[in-house]
Amino acid sequence: MAGRNGKSSFYEDSMETFHRAAELIRMDRRVRMELEEPDFEHIFHVTIDTRDRLVPLAENDVQPFRDLPPSGVGAGDALEPLADGAFILHRRALLSADVTMRQGVINIPGKGYFRLERGGPRKFKAYRIQHNQVRGPYKGGVRFHKDVSLDLFKTLAADMTWKTAIAEVPFGGAKGGMKIDPFAYSREEMEHVSLRYVYKLKNLMGPFRDIPAPDVGTNGAIMAYMMRQYTDGERDHHALRGVVTGKDVRIGGSEGRVKATGQGVVHCIEEWARERSTSISGARVIIQGFGNVGAAAAEILAAMGAHVVAVNDAHGTVHRDGGIDVAALIQYVHQDPRNLRRTVAGFPGATPISKEDFWAVDADVCVPAALGEEITGPVAERLRVKLVAEAANGPTTREGDRVLAARGIDVIPDIICNAGGVTVSYYEWLQNQRLEQWTEAEVNARLERAIKRNYAVIRDVARDRPQKTATHDSRGYAVGKPVDVRTAAMIVALRRVEAHYLLEGFSQ
Ligand code: NAD
Repeated sequence: MAGRNGKSSFYEDSMETFHRAAELIRMDRRVRMELEEPDFEHIFHVTIDTRDRLVPLAENDVQPFRDLPPSGVGAGDALEPLADGAFILHRRALLSADVTMRQGVINIPGKGYFRLERGGPRKFKAYRIQHNQVRGPYKGGVRFHKDVSLDLFKTLAADMTWKTAIAEVPFGGAKGGMKIDPFAYSREEMEHVSLRYVYKLKNLMGPFRDIPAPDVGTNGAIMAYMMRQYTDGERDHHALRGVVTGKDVRIGGSEGRVKATGQGVVHCIEEWARERSTSISGARVIIQGFGNVGAAAAEILAAMGAHVVAVNDAHGTVHRDGGIDVAALIQYVHQDPRNLRRTVAGFPGATPISKEDFWAVDADVCVPAALGEEITGPVAERLRVKLVAEAANGPTTREGDRVLAARGIDVIPDIICNAGGVTVSYYEWLQNQRLEQWTEAEVNARLERAIKRNYAVIRDVARDRPQKTATHDSRGYAVGKPVDVRTAAMIVALRRVEAHYLLEGFSQ
């Protein structure tokens, strides 16, 4: 973050690889200047009306209310539970209620003591950073999370410019979202903030302008709200479905999109294993983050015979040396409505361990699939793996990178490792433009070819072995000496982006 401990910002840190690669390819100075900062930084506010909620009293505050008679508040769905322990109080809860309240506190048998907190207007800071569009419409996810900042979104937007170039999809780079804890709001409130976000952005987005997708804290349901808000009232609304990707298959989404990022991660690991004459079958894997990306990667790896031996998320860590039953863990985290925080914590089929111990679990592959800056220097020192496959965006700090290199631990950098998501987003967008629906097998076959082709180009640049084979052509990318894989990936991205400026020139 700008000025964190007086040190450089995330953005400056993340641009270090950009500058290194730009030097190596002797990038045109003006192009470099164009790419150093985003095209546009949109910062705005979104307001919604929130509902009244019942917030649990802290243990220390309960004593004066112990004598409060129990209240019978509505039934079933009239009290909507939130992941932070509060309940949304729908008015229908009071229709047949028998309530005793003192100083705003009520006692609900079986649930505890709650203070009634009035709803009302709330304001959230929102962002959309459009980094570069020279290769096509801006493209990038929407993150709803309590710890977001301009600096973070600038970093993630620039990453999308590099990633779309590496994936060879005709898009630019963008990212955005909102400073909000989605676990503290109801489904209806999340719908309202999503609609309002698009209401404010409407003139800045579009299938040929800027195309959001899911990221941390957002999903297909949020994409559906966004599409509705954008297309509502438009005469040609069917032609505008490509305004967001990551939609449900039944409303214009693509088969294979939900798992695409995890699938791309696995294709990269597969290639890495093949080059070392080993195999995913029997490999031991630790995974951080069990959301969209982490759970999909785990499921695919397990189906290929890997053993997922430990999983860490925002609320806990589980470990089973013989391998966790991934299908059961997915059921526990994502299909059990009682698991409101969607966490692995409490999973009965494994043993809880600390986050510290998680990093030191003996394994072959570590898949960080949560947030950024998790693999710091000290964490990299603890790791006992051969490969870090970066499913998350920016999971390794600069110091972490140095330690991994010194310890001989391989890295598959995020801009190729998690590019499966944006690749299938492009297929979704294409299907939307053509009003087509491809089969899952068709999507997956294209994805596999695309990821493996670009993985091979990056590998050749890293080894300084440019070549043309039946499946890929890495000539025209290498810099005349071997480089680390992260720099190689950036070189490929920059050469592809720079070509547009060099061939098309600049309007003045
Ligand atoms: P998600 O919201 O579905 O899941 C996030 C997971 O990370 C959850 O399991 C959460 O508990 C965990 N987590 C959050 N904070 C944590 C912490 N401090 N420590 C440990 N775990 C923590 O998000 P997602 O869509 O799966 O995205 C995960 C990562 O992959 C992000 O970095 C995202 O930018 C990247 N990514 C996602 C996509 C996509 O298609 N969804 C594409 C490319 C990259």
